[in-house]
Amino acid sequence: MATQEILYDQLHRLDGQGYGAYKSLKGKYTFEDFTLHIDHVQGDPFAAPSRVRVVVPQAVAGFPNRLWELPCRAIALSDYLTREFHRAAQGSQRTSGSGKSGLVGIVRPSQAILNRSAARVTAGAVELRFTVGLPAFGRRIAGRQAADLLCGTVPALVRQTLVYGALDAAQLEHHVNTAEDAEALRSQLSHHHLVAFVADGAILPRRSGVDECPLADQAVPFKSPDSLRVTLTCPHAGAITGMGVPCGITLIVGGGYHGKSTLLRAIEAGVYNHVPGDGRHQVVTDPAAVKVRAEDGRSIAGVNIAPFIGSLPQGKSTQTFSTPNASGSTSQAANIIEAIEAGATALLVDEDTSATNFMIRDRRMQALIAKDREPITPFVDKVQQLYSDYNISTVLVMGGSGDYFDVADTVIALDEFVPQDVTERAKTIAAELKTERDREGGQSFGAISPRTVQPDSIDPSQGRHSVKLQARDVEQLQIGTEAIDLSAVEQLVETGQVRAIAAAIVYAQRYYLTATTPLSEAIEAVMVDIAQHGLDCLTEWPMGDLVNFRGLELAAAINRLRTLRTA
Ligand code: ADP
Ligand code: MG
Repeated sequence: MATQEILYDQLHRLDGQGYGAYKSLKGKYTFEDFTLHIDHVQGDPFAAPSRVRVVVPQAVAGFPNRLWELPCRAIALSDYLTREFHRAAQGSQRTSGSGKSGLVGIVRPSQAILNRSAARVTAGAVELRFTVGLPAFGRRIAGRQAADLLCGTVPALVRQTLVYGALDAAQLEHHVNTAEDAEALRSQLSHHHLVAFVADGAILPRRSGVDECPLADQAVPFKSPDSLRVTLTCPHAGAITGMGVPCGITLIVGGGYHGKSTLLRAIEAGVYNHVPGDGRHQVVTDPAAVKVRAEDGRSIAGVNIAPFIGSLPQGKSTQTFSTPNASGSTSQAANIIEAIEAGATALLVDEDTSATNFMIRDRRMQALIAKDREPITPFVDKVQQLYSDYNISTVLVMGGSGDYFDVADTVIALDEFVPQDVTERAKTIAAELKTERDREGGQSFGAISPRTVQPDSIDPSQGRHSVKLQARDVEQLQIGTEAIDLSAVEQLVETGQVRAIAAAIVYAQRYYLTATTPLSEAIEAVMVDIAQHGLDCLTEWPMGDLVNFRGLELAAAINRLRTLRTA
């Protein structure tokens, strides 16, 4: 059995040799109070750093059962440890050398508490996966620096961040309790007939468009209108009051810059739990709520968009609609139909990112352009059927048109960031000022046609055998030679989710996608496997950089693959 001392001696022996000699390190080393696994050794100092794992037995780590016995608490505990390690690794002294020499890295957590392959806590042990840049000068092994890194820095980080006694117990407990409370809030939504809940006092605005941290000083805390206030209960924080967004059709109105989109974005993020202090940690949403938007230029494969779009110019079919270059309206129609196909139970729509001609068509335009010359049935004429036929609620930001007053069940107005329930007034106005529109929606929403995909239209290979998967950032992934643009899939929050989705596409293609399996069934099967066996089932080797995602986003990624063909 290799020990820390053996590793230390071996690293000194390697000093000055060519970088490739590091490969001999692969294996398992027993340290005094944990084991270190060197799973993958980088090929040169500039390549992606080496992948390692540490396993600390609970006899040493000492995390009390109450912190990990419930799955949602175990995820929050793992999330906390990942954050602590991330912070400590960033602060640790880096050894000198070329390329990535001495860098200790781990996935960077967002504000969301997510299940990540980087950390796992069980009854037996705590496991943490991270990367180290094995040190070099030029391309020669810096053996002494490597020994300092693996036998000094790493054990220090482990003792600092993976041992219960070394952590701030109260802060850790609060982190775990906050996640469990959010879980409890979310689980009460359907009983109260709600799509979302926004707690009184929540801080919704973010610091900037590129900084997810809460806007600290000038933020106006959320305050529910009395008529929409509900009380939910949490196991730790007790009774919480806040605004319940009812099922059905909810309109968010108000002047420009009064906080409409900010409220909707908080609701979008409410499918995830958030860290204490985020300001949105008591904002929760139906877990199958999907933000949909216009996305002109995307490709579409065999989607039945007929509920929204009738016969197109040149007789193009819309029942199995395919295009490499969708328009604003056809892309938004496809995004909605695909989300429903993948199991969405609520839609979140913002006028800022919608196609106007998809959302509204007023009396004057109806008079000028006859119905038989306009293929689009606007959303305003379909949104009620979506709820009555499929039980799918919609939360819609719409400051620019009152045509939705007729179809809304609830109207919330934001005034200087303070919400008011203006449902009654909106209904009165709708009765007094008629739109005089013709309803164009027909008797029912229309059929959602399940699709099956041609498995060979997904090709992860690059060259002869090698599989290429890459997540550039949260906005793009690569499968084989194909890039998938995810910039319009707005509920992805971490690059690790995109990486995991890339792996899941390959996994789905290998095990579940056949020309006769509905796409939604194949995706469901993948999600069941992940729930039962963890994210590790997606990859050949244990990876530390995968982050949990929803089946809805996996579907969204597959649907955006430009080579995709339906059977
Ligand atoms: P709208 O969609 O109504 O035009 P936004 O939601 O985009 O408005 O918000 C406009 C600006 O106000 C943004 O910079 C946002 O960060 C800020 N903001 C939103 N809500 C609050 C709040 N509760 N307190 C302070 N600033 C806020
Ligand atoms: Mg807006």
